[in-house]
Amino acid sequence: MAEFVEQIRTLKKKVDIDVPNPPSKKDDMEKFIGVPKLKNIGGKNPSGAKNKGSTREVRRKSEKEKAIDASLKPKRKCRECGVCTNTHTKKTCPLGPTAIAAPKAKEEMRRMWSAY
Ligand SMILES: [Zn+2]
Repeated sequence: MAEFVEQIRTLKKKVDIDVPNPPSKKDDMEKFIGVPKLKNIGGKNPSGAKNKGSTREVRRKSEKEKAIDASLKPKRKCRECGVCTNTHTKKTCPLGPTAIAAPKAKEEMRRMWSAY
């Protein structure tokens, strides 16, 4: 067995002497295609991932387009705080009673459950 290993080693040394600089795979590919590899390939990665099965919107809108769409939505006066906006209504107003009551209700629930 040791003899065989020694044989392989001498063979490898011989090959190293015969072929001092073996051509890399990249060089081979460049020769094969006939065009040198581009140093800097321009292009950006896509902005967001997309899951399977969601084909409702054919084209994904950019943040800019989304902002434009939001600005085109008609504005209404919030009956709770009196601000003209299209982001919330009286029901969903951050200053409304439901928004204020929600954390209190949560706290109440926590207190109830921690009693046990
Ligand atoms: Zn409001």
